[in-house]
Amino acid sequence: FIVYGVPIIGANNVWKGVLLVFHDISEIKKLEQMRKDFVANVSHELKTPVTSIKGFTETLLDGAMNNKETLQSFLSIILKESDRLQSLIQDLLELSKIEQQGFRLNIQSIDLYSLLKDVLKLLEGKANTKNIQFEFHCKLNQVRIKGDLDRLKQVFINLINNAITYTPGDGVVSINLLDSDGKVRISVKDTGVGISKEDIPRIFERFYRVDRARSRNSGGTGLGLAIVKHLMEAHHGSISVKSKLGEGSEFIIELPKEVILKDGES
Ligand code: ADP
Repeated sequence: FIVYGVPIIGANNVWKGVLLVFHDISEIKKLEQMRKDFVANVSHELKTPVTSIKGFTETLLDGAMNNKETLQSFLSIILKESDRLQSLIQDLLELSKIEQQGFRLNIQSIDLYSLLKDVLKLLEGKANTKNIQFEFHCKLNQVRIKGDLDRLKQVFINLINNAITYTPGDGVVSINLLDSDGKVRISVKDTGVGISKEDIPRIFERFYRVDRARSRNSGGTGLGLAIVKHLMEAHHGSISVKSKLGEGSEFIIELPKEVILKDGES
């Protein structure tokens, strides 16, 4: 609390009392702490690949590049770390764009059935390398909603890509698309590692990862679900998770068919 005191003086300079104003700044302090944590996290995440790129380049210049095998192996590490930096910067830019005051969705009519089919085709290669089967359940062959095509594509890529990443080989990733009154429901279910009860509320936080090494190895930035959550809010939809450690996870999205825009949105 911050307390301000103002003396109350009556006629003839008679002291009548003090007006005390209590200002609750706990929310402001919390936001300030979150901002500081975010800057510290971003700096750390950027520093790691840069340090690695610098180290490997210096070793190569110091003579290691005379060996062709070492050269090849170090260059592929440098490329991988550069890719990592690029994804991180892309995700940070996207997150900051979505959080801007004047952020607007580009609303259009979308067929979710074909959008999901496209995303599955895009991720088929990665699933094949782990022998993961896709299952797609939908009773209709067209489900139309109003939304932002590129942003919703990004949401499904993030969720299905995570389902593949966090499922060991030979698993199944199933997508369910349900069309109900005024709403659609899309679920992405996997037979993967699952998420503990304690971790579930935290996975939508920026940079929160249950298993840092697994996320890092798969090229994850730790920002995917934070972006998904923001995009769901922008669409006036919701996202929830059901999961059991060691059994698998299910991410459920509900979207209104028509995005009802608030004043000032277009
Ligand atoms: P990342 O880039 O690390 O995947 P995300 O924001 O997409 O970042 O996810 C945050 C964390 O949530 C992941 O690091 C992982 O620990 C957990 N997670 C996300 N999706 C799944 C899933 N399908 N199964 C198990 N854990 C998951």
